[in-house]
Order: sequence, then structure tokens, then C-alpha cells
Amino acid sequence: MAGKQIAGHELVPGKTIKDHIHVGGTQFQVPHVLLCGEKEGPTVLITAGIHNAEYIGIQAAIELSNEIDVSELAGNVVILPLVNCSGFENRTMSLVYEDGKNLNRVFPGDKDGSEADRLAHVLFEAFIKNVDMYIDLHGGDGYENLMPFVYYLGDTDCEEIARSMMECVNSDYCVRSRCRTGGAYNLASVHGIPSILIERGQMGTWSREEVEADKTDVRNILKYLGVLPGEHVRYPKTELTEYNYSAPVAGCWYPEKKAGETFSEGEKLGEIRDYFGQSVYTEYAKEDGIVLYQCASLNIVKNGPMLAYGVRLD
Ligand SMILES: [Zn+2]
Repeated sequence: MAGKQIAGHELVPGKTIKDHIHVGGTQFQVPHVLLCGEKEGPTVLITAGIHNAEYIGIQAAIELSNEIDVSELAGNVVILPLVNCSGFENRTMSLVYEDGKNLNRVFPGDKDGSEADRLAHVLFEAFIKNVDMYIDLHGGDGYENLMPFVYYLGDTDCEEIARSMMECVNSDYCVRSRCRTGGAYNLASVHGIPSILIERGQMGTWSREEVEADKTDVRNILKYLGVLPGEHVRYPKTELTEYNYSAPVAGCWYPEKKAGETFSEGEKLGEIRDYFGQSVYTEYAKEDGIVLYQCASLNIVKNGPMLAYGVRLD
């Protein structure tokens, strides 16, 4: 651990560092907290607010950064409580305010690109590639209905540890992802860093219960990794493959199910109507499955998110 550096800071045992990192060519100053354990162990990264309207993770990360006691740590915990600050301060939903891009689609980013590309580049170079494990906190976006679940990436060298981290999350379902590009945890996993993405919260709201649930999950994972003392708990899960669908037309959206509801092949899942109330598109289930998350606002955007469901892997 001696001499290890993150974002230009040396990790000195027992030290807590709170700072901002500047993203070159932008106005961005990304807040980060380095909690350096007194004992040796792995370095675990926790990010929130890559999607700035997913508030549960943001609040959980702020609280964890103040509550984790470095004298208890065997290893280091690095927390970025709000990655997309400008989106948060301008109340966009998923998007980076300046360039309108979805930050979690542009990793590894580009130091010469637009604001989101530059932010992703710094996140990867200064933080992600220098850690041993990674937990990314998300939820439903400001217009999305979502059930809690967790993602990990299949077919990687680090899949076994990622699966164990996933089992420490208190949810009934997980998605074994096939997506190897664009997202932060996906890229980290491809680089051999065991990573998961936790989904909890929805519709631009947050509650004490949900924030505590995220914090308990993170602490439970840190116990499994030996970074925090104590016994961890594992939660058995149903593994799913995700299918997601964009809206073919703009209009008014009427979902038939709620997130967490199951359905059978051929069932109607939702309908888009025009502004006279006439149906213009109906979505039917192609297989038996469960709704993971979906658009919950009346308006739906052409080629924007409509519905994502999971199908059992077994
Ligand atoms: Zn998200």
C-alpha cells in the first residue's frame, strides 16, 4: 500500500482526504473522499451521481463518506458522491448539462472530446483503473419506475468476486450483463476490476429507508472484502438477462405493469397513444419475464427509454 496514489494523493494510513479534481477543458470540479485505512487491504471505489437524478446513491455516498471510520478499515475506500455535478445543479435527468450526453454511455471517454467524454476520461484514469474493486450506485431516473436489483458483467476474469459482491446486495434479482462498452462498471470489469452496479430508488424521490438500504449493502460488501470488520450476509438471487426497448414514436405512454411485476409471453406491457387518445403503438411481451424499470411519465420520447425487463437465465 505504501506509495499508492489516487487522483494525485498519496494514500497515507489513517488519513482522510476530501478534495476536488478538475476536469481539463471544462468547469467541472469532481468531489472525492479518500478514506485510508490504518491496516493494509484492497482499495474499493464507490461512485454515485453518474446519473445525477438518482438520489438514493448520492445521499448514501455522502453519508458513508462521513461515517466510515478509517481506524476500522483494512484497505482504502474512495468515494465520489456526485460525479455529474453540473447535471445535479441544473436539474437535468440522466444527462450532462453542457453536452446533453449520457455519461454512462461514453466510457472510457476522451480527453479531447466534449464535457461528458472528458469527465469519463478523468474518472477512468484518475480513479477506476487504480482501484481493486468498484461499486457504482444508481437508481431509476427522474421519470423511471424501478425495482431494486444489481448488475454484474458476465464472462470476465473477475466474475467470481463480482458475483460474491453482487450476492451481498439485499435484493431478490440480479442481471448478468452482456454489455462490455460505454458504462463505468462494464469497462472496469473488462479491465479485471470486480465491479457491480446497484439500482435502488426511482422517480426523483429519496427516502431514509432506501438510503439506509444502500449504505447497508455497501458496508456488507466491504465486510465480504475484509475492508470492514464483521461477518457479511449473502442474499440468494434469481439471475436475469435484460432486454430493453426504446419508444418507436413520441406520445403519451400507458404502462400495463409496475416494476417488479411478472408477466407471460404475449401479454400487453404498455401502449403509446397520440394526443387525441388514439393508440399508435402497443408493446407485447416476447417472453415470460419481470419488469426491471420503465418510463413512468406520461410523455415518452422517440428513441428514448420505454421499458426494460428481465428473463430468467435458467
Ligand atoms: Zn443510472
